Amino acid sequence: MPIESEFTLALPYWIDDAVADVPEFLPSPEERMGLVNALADENWRRGNGGPFAAIVVERESGRLVSVGVNVVLASGISSAHAEGMALGLAQKAVGSWDLGGSGLPEHELVVNWRPCIQCYGSAMWSGITSLFVAGSGPELEEISTFDEGPLTADWAEEFESRGITVTENVLRDEALAVFRAYREAVDAGGVLVYNARGQSDEG
Ligand SMILES: [Zn+2]
Repeated sequence: MPIESEFTLALPYWIDDAVADVPEFLPSPEERMGLVNALADENWRRGNGGPFAAIVVERESGRLVSVGVNVVLASGISSAHAEGMALGLAQKAVGSWDLGGSGLPEHELVVNWRPCIQCYGSAMWSGITSLFVAGSGPELEEISTFDEGPLTADWAEEFESRGITVTENVLRDEALAVFRAYREAVDAGGVLVYNARGQSDEG
């Protein structure tokens, strides 16, 4: 019986333009989260997936290592969340499955909300030593209606106990504004506001 033997996940074609003017180094938490919020907003407006984005930076210098957006709709792969894309592309960039491996600088994952249950595990096993989230409360699920899964109340402590520092509430209001804009478009029946697919992002 023939079975599928591989699948490929790729960022959408517009990512190159979206990061073209981004500096190589993003020293402050606000610069890092500002990029994440901007990518999250563009992602849903492009019809590419949910309003989610993530980046991996070198923790100290802020050098941008990778970016990720949710490509579930574009790829047809349910696990293709922003965090997994950013982590996988960062691991490809450094040539290791362990972003905390010897000889590497420490790495930080920056996400526009607390990770879902899947990405919670992905982040925990990635080798990062720092997680920045715009927020962590129920607002994301309430506004967007996405189900983020059964994270326990001590989710942040579990990261901390594994040497992963968690920092919350960075550009939180800006993150919520992206979710609200997305929800308004969903309610209006016009999520694919300027879906430009049909170009290279599906190839
Ligand atoms: Zn996720």
